[in-house]
Amino acid sequence: MLKFALIATTSSRVHALTGGIRLKTMPTSTAIYSTTTSSSSSSSSITPPPAKNLLFDLPVSNNGARTRIIMYKKEIPESECAVISVMDVGGFKSEEYLSINPQGKIPSLKCQTTGVTIAESDTVCRYLMSSYSDLGPSFQPDNPLSNEIARFHDMYLTTIQTCLYRAVPPFGIFGTRKDALKEYSKQLYIISNMMDDEGPYLCGKEVSLADASVFPSVVFASFMFPKFDQKELMDDQQQQLVPKKIEEWFQRMIDTDVAFQKVYEEISGGLAKWDEKGRWDTIWLAGLRDDEPDTLFDKILAGEIPASIVKEDDKILAFKDINPAAPAHVLVIPKDRDGLTRLSKSTPEHYEILGRLMVAAGEIAKDESLGFGDGARIVINDGAKAGQEVFHLHVHVLGGRDFNWPPG
Ligand code: 5GP
Repeated sequence: MLKFALIATTSSRVHALTGGIRLKTMPTSTAIYSTTTSSSSSSSSITPPPAKNLLFDLPVSNNGARTRIIMYKKEIPESECAVISVMDVGGFKSEEYLSINPQGKIPSLKCQTTGVTIAESDTVCRYLMSSYSDLGPSFQPDNPLSNEIARFHDMYLTTIQTCLYRAVPPFGIFGTRKDALKEYSKQLYIISNMMDDEGPYLCGKEVSLADASVFPSVVFASFMFPKFDQKELMDDQQQQLVPKKIEEWFQRMIDTDVAFQKVYEEISGGLAKWDEKGRWDTIWLAGLRDDEPDTLFDKILAGEIPASIVKEDDKILAFKDINPAAPAHVLVIPKDRDGLTRLSKSTPEHYEILGRLMVAAGEIAKDESLGFGDGARIVINDGAKAGQEVFHLHVHVLGGRDFNWPPG
């Protein structure tokens, strides 16, 4: 069972905490709270801490950061709301933390007086806004745009934000990091088009929930986008991935508002630590980095060499083999090679495209108009020793005759 033991408290205001979640960097003996487990009791035994509310969080947490912006700007006293590092309860996948937040997500707010725990950042924000409506700005201007931008952010950006810091798909509804990153930028443009023109905040003169929700995501985007090949992610009309209007608002917040500046430092400090640990080394995998030379398939894709195309969508191209090894012989290739010079270069980043290629091959293999009948040989030659000549992954779909096994 969870047991919090109060050890010491120091500063009077949350906004005075260095790095927000100071506990993490303090020696264990001076941590505000420590956790112990008791096997002798079946019920939770909690020594009441001095704060009415405990915010379980981490400095680098994007979702937690919005709640801290509200806390810092409202200058909510630490006696009302204290920040606890999730690491102090064993990390976000620990049994202890899961008993606070069943999703294992950050942040959570535990109200010590009512015993209620709020395990979702937007709800924590709204709780703080209403509980501390007498302190600082309301974050709720008389303008529905604030809620609309906050909701847009949560529906379309939060759901794919893992593309900024994780290598393995899916990223929300997107199967590739590249697609998700492009969408992330597109959604920032949608928000920038909704912004008030005058500012200084997203919805005009007053700071709002929209600012608190969007700001941490832009910290992440500004830190991470430059690590990618940004041109690969932009469409023809785009000059930059973070729209200029958002960039200007973001810089203004950092330059003029201490609460936003503090959260900026908290998140980017955490991201820089991840940098040092090589966290991003896996980011590219084969995803966007592809320094291998072009092949003749690039010329086919560019229309420079004619080909008899039998199937095409946004991701794949299928065309008849120029030198057929069977009455029906079609090659299916990814339009974007993304490092897939051969199958053995595939990584989890390629889950989606590999699935697309297989489904397309399966459809072609039953297409009688192309000379396929009942049964086909689907082949991928991996490497020169296996007969691969063109180093751009391709699936051979062969049909219209019987095939021997084992193959030669
Ligand atoms: P691999 O040997 O690399 O597995 O297969 C490459 C395939 O590409 C071969 O079957 C070859 O006949 C086919 N191929 C090579 N050049 C061309 C071309 O210019 N057009 C088309 N349609 N197929 C080609």
